[in-house]
Amino acid sequence: MATITAHNELNVYESAEARFEVAAKELGLEEGLYRFLKYPNKEIAVYLPIVMDDGGMQVFVGYRVQHSSVRGPCKGGIRYSPGVTLDEVRALASWMTWKCAVVDIPFGGAKGGIICDPEKLSRSELERITRRYTAELSEWLGPEKDVPAPDLGTDEQVMAWVMDTFSMHSRHTVTGVVTGKPLDIGGSRGRREATGRGLLFVCNKAIERLGRKPSGCRVIVQGFGNVGSVAAQLMHETGYRIIGVSDIHGGLYNENGIDLPKLIDWVHGQQKRLPDFPGGEKVSSQEILFRPCDVLVPAAVENQITSENAHRLDCRILCEGANGPTTAYADPILRDKDIFVIPDILANAGGVTVSYFEWIQDRQGMFWREREVNHRLQDIMDHSFDEVVHVREERHVNTRTAAYMLAIRRVASALRVRGIYA
Ligand code: NAD
Repeated sequence: MATITAHNELNVYESAEARFEVAAKELGLEEGLYRFLKYPNKEIAVYLPIVMDDGGMQVFVGYRVQHSSVRGPCKGGIRYSPGVTLDEVRALASWMTWKCAVVDIPFGGAKGGIICDPEKLSRSELERITRRYTAELSEWLGPEKDVPAPDLGTDEQVMAWVMDTFSMHSRHTVTGVVTGKPLDIGGSRGRREATGRGLLFVCNKAIERLGRKPSGCRVIVQGFGNVGSVAAQLMHETGYRIIGVSDIHGGLYNENGIDLPKLIDWVHGQQKRLPDFPGGEKVSSQEILFRPCDVLVPAAVENQITSENAHRLDCRILCEGANGPTTAYADPILRDKDIFVIPDILANAGGVTVSYFEWIQDRQGMFWREREVNHRLQDIMDHSFDEVVHVREERHVNTRTAAYMLAIRRVASALRVRGIYA
């Protein structure tokens, strides 16, 4: 088995590269293709002058990294966060390439980000930032070129501004330039819940593989935003027992099960702090990861499970809702502990899969019922899970390496047949 090489464990780009290298070596990828796929296609930095509400001007820095368009238009979210770095955006862009290839949808990978704190910006400031960012990038975006979507700190409204700005520059309405839009302007039914729903489907497959049933399986979820809260709710409805949850403010643990519908109303309806919910013991956001459970779902941010703490995990299945919650150096520890890992590029691919459905519906001008969206999503997630497990068993590698191998093999095969333009 190839070994991991990353100098700085917490640098997500190095973590992404390390996983790519392990899988590329297992595949015996040719040197030339290895070099081509290791680096992004294009990196764009933009400096956005914005007039703030108080009349002053600030300059925000934004990025868009297009990792690959070998299998189709680039696809990937836009992140608004004070912690955005070019390395982070690069890592996320390459993960998008592998994610789209694992679930076999015809997209390449990209990612964007702006260094800003959306919590501290007014709605009109956010709108001006979004419109200027889109205008600066307009020549590189488009339904056939690069199609953004929401990520941390961005939502349906931000996507609506991207769509409107791009359309104004194109002189006609272009709904397919962005996904994760509101339903009124070409969004897809089921998109908001898609990542959590996809996660439920692959968890069900993993549980079945271990000869268990969802009912009674104990689940802990870190992160209670779009991915975490939807996954927790759908798992609760399926019969899983949600015994722990956490968000940025802290965690909550109750081995008898947390009343999920009430907690969702508490946090998202009444806008109260998660750890103050009556009905559980208060635990820190990170400590929740180490409580005993059957399924652990990190669905918050990167680098939560590292070589320092992986030995403390007490779960049977690790289902990665977030992108990059586990560092490359933690992988061998998880293998030694015999934890079945459903890696991020598979576990959270439900979001981009329904984004793909949204793009198809926009281009067709014909919209599907939610039942049809969910049915097609399940078909893709179940099938992709089986394919990854097949590679794992055939090649005697862990599930993460198997997922990368499947993805790299697909992109490399498209590249070989297309050839390199001189
Ligand atoms: P979100 O902003 O809706 O929610 C993030 C949640 O994480 C919030 O509850 C926040 O309080 C919590 N959080 C932040 N820092 C934390 C910490 N240190 N400890 C515990 N909780 C913390 O974001 P989201 O859309 O749910 O995305 C979560 C993760 O899933 C990200 O890694 C994102 O890239 C990934 N992802 C999202 C989608 C999607 O469709 N939204 C798709 C694929 C992957």
